[in-house]
Order: sequence, then structure tokens, then C-alpha cells
Amino acid sequence: MTDTTTRVRPGRLIINGEAVDAASGRAFTTMNPATEVPICEVAEAGAEDVERAVRAARAAFESGPWPRMRPAERQRILFRLGDLILEHGDELGRLETLDNGKPIFESRQIDVPMTANCFHYFAGWATRLAGETLPVSPAFFTYTLREPLGVVAAIIPWNFPMIMVGWKCAPALAAGNTVVLKPAELTPLTAIRIGELALEAGLPPGVLNVLPGPGNVAGEALVRHPGVDKVTFTGSTAVGQRIMRLAADTVKKVTLELGGKSPNIVFADADLDAAVRGVSTGIFYGKGEVCAAGSRLLVEASIHAEFVAKLAERAKKLQPADPLDPKTRLGALVSEAQMKKVLGHIESGVAEGARLVAGGRRQPVDGKGWFVQATVLDAVENRMRVAQEEIFGPVLAVIPFDGVDDAVAKGNDIRYGLAAGVWTKDVKKAHAVARRLQAGTVWVNAYNFYDAGMPFGGFKQSGFGRDLGPECLREVTQVKSVWVNLE
Ligand code: NAP
Ligand code: MG
Repeated sequence: MTDTTTRVRPGRLIINGEAVDAASGRAFTTMNPATEVPICEVAEAGAEDVERAVRAARAAFESGPWPRMRPAERQRILFRLGDLILEHGDELGRLETLDNGKPIFESRQIDVPMTANCFHYFAGWATRLAGETLPVSPAFFTYTLREPLGVVAAIIPWNFPMIMVGWKCAPALAAGNTVVLKPAELTPLTAIRIGELALEAGLPPGVLNVLPGPGNVAGEALVRHPGVDKVTFTGSTAVGQRIMRLAADTVKKVTLELGGKSPNIVFADADLDAAVRGVSTGIFYGKGEVCAAGSRLLVEASIHAEFVAKLAERAKKLQPADPLDPKTRLGALVSEAQMKKVLGHIESGVAEGARLVAGGRRQPVDGKGWFVQATVLDAVENRMRVAQEEIFGPVLAVIPFDGVDDAVAKGNDIRYGLAAGVWTKDVKKAHAVARRLQAGTVWVNAYNFYDAGMPFGGFKQSGFGRDLGPECLREVTQVKSVWVNLE
């Protein structure tokens, strides 16, 4: 397997415009999950570093140029950062693949442009955020101002380490907030690199601080800190619940993007070949470590056998391979712990009566790495653990249904509500089912499409608030009502 890990520089914290070591001097090792080889050392942020970073972000907000500069200037700097991300696309793509194990095809061809797209898109909003003039009384001139919140803490997961920097930081910065970003300990490298590029783009010191470090230390200190005005979080439902509780003490605003167990619903009248491809990428893209993964296939009973046969055939062809090879489409899971969790879920499904029709096992590449085969479990019932719990790996649970009402009922019979897919050629059915599904995103005859311009977030226990699109600007701004007495 290609191993180029030796050339990666150690990662440092970025506080107040400078790359620094942790106050404690501590560092941790980030690993390549495909080779089980260390990539480099990374400074480990602790409570004291959180203190310094929040102080820097606070000062940058209270008295620095960022929220005060002409919006056109903020726009120019954020747009430049988008350009720099594209210019450094090869480097960022490689770092992401080394750190996370995802195929270079995904990190280079999709994650890099999507991250840049976020900065380019939200740069434009810097000059478009505005209040309103609201006619209330002839005796008053009444208007609203749309203002930034202050210091935003962004806590992000390991599955899309680079894209999440764009989703969380670009809108917050465009609106004039300052940010303290805590990447996941498993995948800190691209966030640190983008923090450096942000300084190159002209972001003033303290506007974007990056603190790699353990969630229960650095993450929690940010959530508790009275100098932080808002926490925007993407990660597990359990940690989201904890953040929501802790944030109550200082009445922090929170946005939570949590887990999912999204149904991909295939009706008998669908274009079956397109649906097989869509269902397959819906679960196997990103090794299934995707919050919106279509991890439950609901398939109409009349086509069940034929569809599952085609799908199993496709899954078997999708072999784990070297993530740095541009032809690879199934990479390594992010860690040994994640691999064990996924394998445990497969075992539990089989024990509960599901039938393994593809994959099911660990499959190292050149004898190494946390690779799991593309796995399809048929004959799943909705009450089984594999149908109800998020697996976060390349494991598809297949559940047959009879007719529209049964599809909708089974689709919604879950505590999550992040996304859903609907496959049918009947346009009425497509729209009607899209309306009835309890999910923040519904794709029709497609799956896993995202754009900076389209809101994304959860219904039910998948969270609240939205990333992306015009909608997310509400999450990073607040409205002030001004009354001017004219009499
Ligand atoms: P996680 O354990 O919830 O971690 C997410 C982030 O929170 C990491 O940066 C983590 O730090 C930090 N963290 C952990 N404990 C914390 C605490 N007590 N206080 C503050 N921060 C804390 O989730 P994960 O295992 O990294 O990611 C997988 C999960 O994220 C899955 O359940 C998936 O569904 C969800 N996810 C959701 C979305 C979405 O958009 N809804 C997107 C992607 C992933 P460390 O890891 O460094 O300790
Ligand atoms: Mg790593």
C-alpha cells in the first residue's frame, strides 16, 4: 500500500493568529487507519488553551476589525480562502485520506471542492445580510439590524473533517462572528491546515482559532465557557444531548446535527438499475460513516428478491482497497474501535435473524487497516437493533414493505429524522411521500447530494437548527429591533 505519511508536519494549535504548542506541552498521535501507522504528532489542547483561544476570539470580536470591516472586505477574504483551499486541493485531499481512511477520490474530488464551495458561497452572504424596515407607526422609524452572535464554538466529527470546517465556519465568519474550532481528535489535520490558510487569506488574528484535543476536555471546556455565545455541533446524539444540557448553564445558543438511520425507499415502479446504484452509493459512500447514509433500504415486496440480488452483486464488487489509489471506492473505517463497533452490529443483526447476503467481515488490505466489506443484511425487521441503531459503517439493512402507507410508516418508525430517499417514476407518489417523511432532507431518484446553498439538518432526535443555505444564517446571527421616535 502507498505510504507517504512520513512527510506530514506535526500539527499545532492556532490561537490568535499563531501556530503554538499546547500550554501543557502535551501532544497526541494521529493515525492512518488504512496502514495502522502514525502520521504525526498533534498538540493537544487543554483547558488553558481553551481559555487563551476564547480570550483571543472574544477580543477579536469585541475590538478587532473583523465584525467592523466593510462586508465587502470580509467577502473578499473568505472568497480568497475558498480559492486557497482549491489551490491546496492535492495537499488537503491527501491529508484527509491519510487521517480518515476515505478514498482519495472522495477527499480530492468531492470534499475539497465542497469545502471551497462553502467559503465561496457564504462569502457572498457577507454583503447580503440585512435587517428590514418595518412600518409600525407614523410616530416611529422602526427597523431591524441583523448582527453576529459573538464567539461561536464549532465542534465537529471525524467523518467529514474538512467539509465540516466549511459548513460550520464559513457562515459564522461571513456574518462577522469569531470562531473557536475543535476538530475530532481522530482527524485534526485538515482543520489545522485550513486554519493556516485562513491566516494567509487575510483573516485577522483571533478570528479563527483551531484547538485539536479530546472532546471531554477541550470540547467540554468550550461548551462551559461563559465567553462563548454559541455552540454549533455535529456528532453523536449522546454527545449532543450532553452539550445541550451543559449549554443551559450559560444559556448558550446551540445548533445540533446528530445521528441518523435514514430510509432509502424503492418502489416497484422505480428505474431499478438507477435505484441499485443510488442505494449502493447511499450506504457505501464514505464507508457508510455518513450521518445521512441511507442505511435502511425499504424495498417494495414485489421486487424485493430481484432488487436484493442486484444489490448484493454490486456490493460484492466493491472491494476495500488502498485509499490513496484513485480507483478505490471503499476505504478504511476511521479507527479500530469504529471497526469493532460495526462488526458487532453485523453480528447482532445475524443473531436477531437477519440474513447476510454480501460482505460481513473485516478485510485488511496488504494485511493492515480497519477495512470492512460492503455488507448487506436482508430479512431485517424494523424492531431489530440493526434497523433502529446507527451503525456508521458500510452496512445496509433491507426491510420489505407493501404499498405507500407501509413504506411511510416503516420509514418514520425511528427516533431519527435526518434524511430519506424515494425511488419511483410516479411523480405524484414522489411528492406525496416526500411530504409525509419525517426527515430534514428528502432526495427523489437521487441520494447524498449536498450543496452550500441547500439547508441541511435534522427532524426528531437528529437535531435542530440548520447548516448551509440561507436558512443557516439565522443560526449565526441575531436580530435587534430599533425604534426611533419621530415626534
Ligand atoms: P462524537 O463522539 O459525538 O464527537 C463529535 C465531536 O464532539 C468530536 O469533536 C468530539 O471530540 C467532540 N466531543 C466528544 N465528547 C464531547 C463532550 N463531552 N463535550 C464536547 N465535545 C465533545 O461523534 P463522532 O464519533 O466523532 O462522530 C460520529 C457521530 O456523529 C455519528 O453518530 C454521526 O451520526 C454523527 N454525525 C452527524 C452528522 C450530522 O450532520 N447530523 C454529521 C456527521 C456525523 P473527540 O472525538 O476529539 O473526543
Ligand atoms: Mg487519523
